[in-house]
Amino acid sequence: MSEFDGVFIHSTLPGLSRRKGDGNLMTVLSIRIVGDPILRTRADEVTDFGPVLRKLVADMDETMENVEGAGLAAPQVGVSLRVFTYQIAGQRGHIINPVLEMSEDDQEDVSEGCLSIPGMAYPVKRRRWTRATGVDVDNNPVVVEGEDFLARCIQHETDHLDGILFIDRLTGELKKEAFRKLRNANYNSVAASTINERAAALGSSFGAGASFGGQR
Ligand code: ZN
Repeated sequence: MSEFDGVFIHSTLPGLSRRKGDGNLMTVLSIRIVGDPILRTRADEVTDFGPVLRKLVADMDETMENVEGAGLAAPQVGVSLRVFTYQIAGQRGHIINPVLEMSEDDQEDVSEGCLSIPGMAYPVKRRRWTRATGVDVDNNPVVVEGEDFLARCIQHETDHLDGILFIDRLTGELKKEAFRKLRNANYNSVAASTINERAAALGSSFGAGASFGGQR
């Protein structure tokens, strides 16, 4: 049983699509919010490398940029596959089926947030260095390696693929406080207002002529 029982908040924001200048369809996906079971499910290995996967990665990249996230994992957009995108420390890309190696030592605790847990930020203990080995959309080998923020991002996003959220990594009073906040009825309104703000931001960034896609 998860500690999230009793909390169930869904983003009702639909995905939005429009044509970019080059004629390609660009889609900003809706982001699943804590309480959604997909965020607590271990995602499946990617085995199908084709146009559907390519579109998913392109849309995740677009979505990450739109919400100014440092990273985005597929379960956060409702797809239970082992894929994440990242844009941090001057590096940007994606990795599929990542396998992590980590240093024994930790980095300095830094506050983390999560697009799926609006309005919360807590210092989280993370390993100093991480190397993720996986593949790209063409099933070619990819290695993403770094320290500090990049290492933190890789660990945070890979956790999403295992159904783990950053608040699970907290300890002691901070963990109690985070879960207390989540259980608080007031958290629903905090999350709802963030979702509405994202919707408003999307609306303005898309401007006139935007067409609304279905729920993704
Ligand atoms: Zn997250």
